[in-house]
Amino acid sequence: MPLPFASRLDNVETSAIRELFKLLGKPGIISFAGGFPDSAMFDVEGLREASQKALAEEPGAALQYGATEGYEPLRAQLAAFEQSKGVQDIQPHQLIVTTGSQQALDLLGKTMISPGDKVIVEGPTFLATIQCFRLYGADLVSAPIDSQGVDVDKLEALIREHKPKFVYLIPTFGNPSGALLSLERRRKVLELAVRYQTLIVEDDPYGDLYFTKEPPPPSLLALSKDVPGSRDWLAHCGSMSKVLSPGLRVGWLVAPPELLAKATMCKQFSDAHTSTFAQATAAQYLKSGRMPATLDRVRKVYAERALAMGDALKRELGDAIEFTQPQGGLFFWARLTGAGGKVSDAAEFAKRAIEKGVAFVPGAPFFAKEPDRSALRLSFATAGVDKIAEGVARLRQAS
Ligand code: PMP
Repeated sequence: MPLPFASRLDNVETSAIRELFKLLGKPGIISFAGGFPDSAMFDVEGLREASQKALAEEPGAALQYGATEGYEPLRAQLAAFEQSKGVQDIQPHQLIVTTGSQQALDLLGKTMISPGDKVIVEGPTFLATIQCFRLYGADLVSAPIDSQGVDVDKLEALIREHKPKFVYLIPTFGNPSGALLSLERRRKVLELAVRYQTLIVEDDPYGDLYFTKEPPPPSLLALSKDVPGSRDWLAHCGSMSKVLSPGLRVGWLVAPPELLAKATMCKQFSDAHTSTFAQATAAQYLKSGRMPATLDRVRKVYAERALAMGDALKRELGDAIEFTQPQGGLFFWARLTGAGGKVSDAAEFAKRAIEKGVAFVPGAPFFAKEPDRSALRLSFATAGVDKIAEGVARLRQAS
């Protein structure tokens, strides 16, 4: 007799990507497949000091149960961190600490989605979000994107047609798209939120990883001060994962008060609170003032790798591949054109690539609806510049 699992599990399956990851253990594989930051980028010294201080200064708080909303000194540091990025008016009580931003997404799903509810996501979008929202029974609607991010006119039409519970966007260096939503479109998104009284969820784990001299356009959260009323319709998920350490599992959620209260209630029943030791360590780290230098270092290394990958893709694959050079984040999002009789199906290409010793992720699973089978995601985060050149040369052999 099979175990009688909950029917909500009927809506989700283990991702195709997980299956692919099993092959990554093969010796000598160069992987562009993961979504991980490079472990060599972690500020181990800074985190060691921060964790020691956390234990020395407030052992009780760092090792005891804590408030569901989060450790107060960390909430204050995170509010200050958001302020440093242009969110002028944010107060610590307007955010809660979550166990990674993944938990913030789960709490949004839990608090907002009833089975059959429509939720608009970008096509393509973060795979774990698709799975998480489906687990709550969401009927996902896919809004098309280009290199400037989501197409706001189409988004407006979809909002009118589907009256979604909310719209989920990754406006800055999306995963997998790498796309950057333009300033003009950001304003329009906020105006749409107010006009249609529709909650917008901004997922922003990559906003600090920009490669240009100037930062990208402000987050929707920062811009909301320019669009009256928009803050009432905006949730924002932040994360320490890509810049500091994903293993810390420290993220945060900014949301209107009544949503934050419901999310906190659900978090209480789920994990009670995010690890107090991790929170105290993150608070000490932010307090230490090391973050700006860490960000500079991380941006510089990823910028070099992104350039190396762009050059190599052009050199090795020419017009058989199309992409926009990412200005930040961890990913290239590309399309196989089939030019010169080369392979145009990304899943087939992925299989051949593994045989040649290089891995990437086919793009189809990142679409909630109507997958683009010629699309693929390549991460430049974990391979050094030489390995990137070697890996892309192997891609040519596989094409
Ligand atoms: N959102 C996006 C778009 C991501 O790419 C990721 C990590 N891959 C997350 C959320 C979750 O990150 P974390 O839980 O580590 O903060």
